[in-house]
Amino acid sequence: MVKQISHWLDGAVVRGTSDRTSPVFNPGTGEHTGDVELATRSDVDRVVASGRAAAKSWRRASLSTRSAVLFGFRELLAKNVDELSRLVTSEHGKVLADAAGEVARGLENVEFACGVPQLMKGGYSEQVATDVDAYSIRQPLGVVAGITPFNFPVMVPLWMAANAIACGNAFVLKPSEKDPSASLFLAELWRRAGLPDGVFNVVQGDKEAVDALLEHPDIAAVSFVGSTPIARYIYERGTQAGKRVQALGGAKNHMVVLPDADIDVAADAAVSAAYGAAGERCMAVSVVVAVGDSGDPLVEAIAGRLPKLRIGSGAEPGVEMGPLITSEHRQKVSAYIAAGAESGARVVVDGRDADVPSSGFFLGTTLLDDVKPDMSVYTDEIFGPVLCVVRVATYDDAVALINANTYANGTAIFTRDGGAARRFQFDVEVGMVGINVPIPVPVAYYSFGGWKASLFGDSHMYGPEGIAFYTRGKVVTARWPDPATSAIDLGFPTTR
Ligand code: NAD
Repeated sequence: MVKQISHWLDGAVVRGTSDRTSPVFNPGTGEHTGDVELATRSDVDRVVASGRAAAKSWRRASLSTRSAVLFGFRELLAKNVDELSRLVTSEHGKVLADAAGEVARGLENVEFACGVPQLMKGGYSEQVATDVDAYSIRQPLGVVAGITPFNFPVMVPLWMAANAIACGNAFVLKPSEKDPSASLFLAELWRRAGLPDGVFNVVQGDKEAVDALLEHPDIAAVSFVGSTPIARYIYERGTQAGKRVQALGGAKNHMVVLPDADIDVAADAAVSAAYGAAGERCMAVSVVVAVGDSGDPLVEAIAGRLPKLRIGSGAEPGVEMGPLITSEHRQKVSAYIAAGAESGARVVVDGRDADVPSSGFFLGTTLLDDVKPDMSVYTDEIFGPVLCVVRVATYDDAVALINANTYANGTAIFTRDGGAARRFQFDVEVGMVGINVPIPVPVAYYSFGGWKASLFGDSHMYGPEGIAFYTRGKVVTARWPDPATSAIDLGFPTTR
């Protein structure tokens, strides 16, 4: 039975006006499990109007009321981790432990936002002139939109919605049409936490819904996470319409291994960071940069680990890597492996030959050695279980390679030398850096963001920059004459 997946408006699931839908699959079985509605402009108008009405009263709710709703939502999320994880796995394919990890990282953002009374504090300067004080306050923007990718259907919406709502905005989520059900589960938890209707709405859709949001005069800001071409488009269209926009794009993350590194530690890190979630993570390692003579032992250690990696349905216990999101994406990743081989990369392990389940969108792990910077496997974001090894002679060559890349989301260095690590953090032109940590996703009280083609806009996501993004500053300069000099008798002595 194929389920119908609709929008969430004013505290309930509602059908839209469109007859267009998009199929949703279980990537672990290949089964067509749902059809998601694709909103029309009038559906978007309805959702934004609801948000606009709700935002007016929500910004009047006291900070402690808002904080109490967030605490309630946090408790409900924590209680529903298993159910939510199963839902994520059923439409995304990632293994259950990974889905639970995604919920946990999203939950961190809710916990951060619970501190909104502290986070929204302004500044105060007394007596900037005689009887005059100046102070700054931060106020919500109104209705803000979040447009999110398929690969983290819970975590990325929570990167945005937790802070946006805590700050007093109404939030409209436009999830990925590939795994849309988690958005409705989140909406139900917000409702049960006591969030007033209309403060969190969901509009399902594709480009038509996105364009309607980008052009809508009542959308004050847009947060986007997805691929670089779409991020650029969102940034250009949104800012042209006068909106505040933060648009996070794709990635090609390099992991440098210096000759002094512990090879087993580096190989374990490379395998989990490159092949976890079948490489469909924006912080996945996709290039290992082997410096000096680290190359041979490292490639051997990584290759030796791959046959032990259990590939299968994410819902099965003990499985370590699930399928890709769609069969089209599997074909695209396979084509990259073929192109890599054709252009001269050495195919150490070929995922196309792997013994994987025949139903579902599975592909085995691939390891390519002797990759050169002009090959498409190096220049393009593959977003699959393919790890490239580029060999360089020196540390300086490694840094030059990374700094010449158009993407700059995350990077990592593996070494036992603190001085080399410190120099790397200084030299490298990338937004998030790991030192002996392969996937350096910042905790919720820092902010997440890449540089260059990995981020359009000047604001990183969540953490302190998230609070700044979802509020605007106001400065008040106030004169209150001293009662002692006032014309009205307030009973104060006339001299001090
Ligand atoms: P995507 O860019 O295809 O889609 C993202 C969102 O944009 C979806 O909601 C989709 O419906 C919408 N969209 C797609 N095409 C559109 C169009 N032509 N016009 C308007 N809207 C459109 O990305 P995806 O495949 O869902 O996700 C994978 C990508 O996201 C990868 O490139 C990955 O690196 C990136 N990503 C980046 C980060 C980060 O933090 N930088 C995090 C997660 C994912």
